[in-house]
Amino acid sequence: MVVGADDEMSNSDRRNGETQDSNPPSLDLTDDAMHELVTESVALIADYFGHIAEIPLFQHTAASKFADELSSELPIEGESIEQLMKDCRSLISATRHTGHPRFLGYIGSVSTPVGAFADAIASTLNPNVNSWRSAPAATELEKLVVRWLGLLVGYGENAQGLLTSGSSMANLNALLIAHRVKSPEKVSEKGLWNTGAPMTIYASDRVHFSIPKAADVLGLGRDCVRIVKSDAKFRLEVSSLRQRIEADLSNGFRPFCIVANAGTTATGAVDPLAEIARVAEEYQLWLHVDGAYGAFAALDPRKRHLFAGIELADSVSLDPHKWLYTPVDCGCLLFRNAAEVRTALSFGVGEFLQLHEETEAESFAFWDYGIELSRRFRALKIWMLLRYYGVRRISAAIANNNTLAEYLGDRVSMAEDFELLAPVELSICCFRYVPPLLVTRLLSGDETERASVNAEIDRLNARILFAVQRKGRAYLSNTTICGRYALRACTVNFRTTCADIDAILDIVRDTAHNLDK
Ligand SMILES: *Cc1c(COP(=O)(O)O)cnc(C)c1O
Repeated sequence: MVVGADDEMSNSDRRNGETQDSNPPSLDLTDDAMHELVTESVALIADYFGHIAEIPLFQHTAASKFADELSSELPIEGESIEQLMKDCRSLISATRHTGHPRFLGYIGSVSTPVGAFADAIASTLNPNVNSWRSAPAATELEKLVVRWLGLLVGYGENAQGLLTSGSSMANLNALLIAHRVKSPEKVSEKGLWNTGAPMTIYASDRVHFSIPKAADVLGLGRDCVRIVKSDAKFRLEVSSLRQRIEADLSNGFRPFCIVANAGTTATGAVDPLAEIARVAEEYQLWLHVDGAYGAFAALDPRKRHLFAGIELADSVSLDPHKWLYTPVDCGCLLFRNAAEVRTALSFGVGEFLQLHEETEAESFAFWDYGIELSRRFRALKIWMLLRYYGVRRISAAIANNNTLAEYLGDRVSMAEDFELLAPVELSICCFRYVPPLLVTRLLSGDETERASVNAEIDRLNARILFAVQRKGRAYLSNTTICGRYALRACTVNFRTTCADIDAILDIVRDTAHNLDK
């Protein structure tokens, strides 16, 4: 039975013998409605996770049909749970399923039932995790989980920090801290116009766009991010970094921060962190490591060495919602020196927010370390995930993701009609389809000929990608490697197998053959 708002009101009216006006309407559910909501939503979640490998990855038509059929009327009167759940189920066919084993586009966020239910519990308890006083348990859990995340990526025993909506926010927060710590003036009070020499940031040409965007948000301007050349493996070139810093110093700029990549979004390259840390130390610059995508690869024993030096960073960004199999949203900012961060960011909050608790733990507030006040309970999903699976199993899944990308790289290299465009560092493989006829022209032609053939291959691969995405049997994305259009597969999906990788190459090849049919 479904009880609508009216029925509920009349029930309670009858119970209490009061009029509608004197009895505020309750939004609590009746036992029957509660039962229906719980049963139906649990069934939906179980069905989804049980069949995710079999459902179509994406149905273009279903998505547009869904939009057409969507009732756009603002619902003045309530509807039944049955109707809501029916419509939620129709969302499934119109969704692009990042958890599908052949979804290798972008950096997928592949979640688990543990994470899904953790989010439901978090929203049920609904603490506002702005401070210990508002949310004691959630605050303790967040501090614990942050420390665990630091341990996972090799940042040390006692990482401190906070969870964020994602790494764009973690990067913004990091640059804010770096700038305030390194500013000669009290920028928080006086603003930027008094800072004298323009302050500059250094990052490789593979830096994620959230860094220049953060510089823009901070009022520093995107040009303050000095783009440093990367080497043949797309890692920041340390000699160029030094040169650029020296040049800026002699031209009156004030360098304050280096952003190093621990896994670039395009190819997964990890900058030489220890060497960069030495430069940061020498010039007294803040070192921020952007490990949004890649840092969890440190859990793969074969890759751990790439992250040596991460422990020297002043701050690190991570995205559990990328490669720790946690549902969106969940990013994290780690830092080494919490006291320094607090001094740099905290400023007299309003009287109503002043804390009077006695112990330091009890007067802890996240607003002293970050930008937001109200914050959701993100720690729970990481806490439940790590406790349920354990680090060993999560590490094995991550290591397997790396193995799959290598497998794809090997298959691509061996094939006559595919070309590997970047070394496979972690779980990303960038390649392109090159029909044999064009291979011959590429090999034999002069420079002009090669340029025109390359342009033709770019256009061909763009068409292939579009068609592959439309068909919905596999999902890749694209990037640019040395000016060339690349198909990009990113295996951060624990459901993907070697058979899926084989199938994906077949799908790309088939699509190429059938483009004009
Ligand atoms: C994804 C990504 C970001 C941005 O993270 P969001 O969680 O999407 O905000 C930043 N840096 C790198 C290297 C990334 O891969």
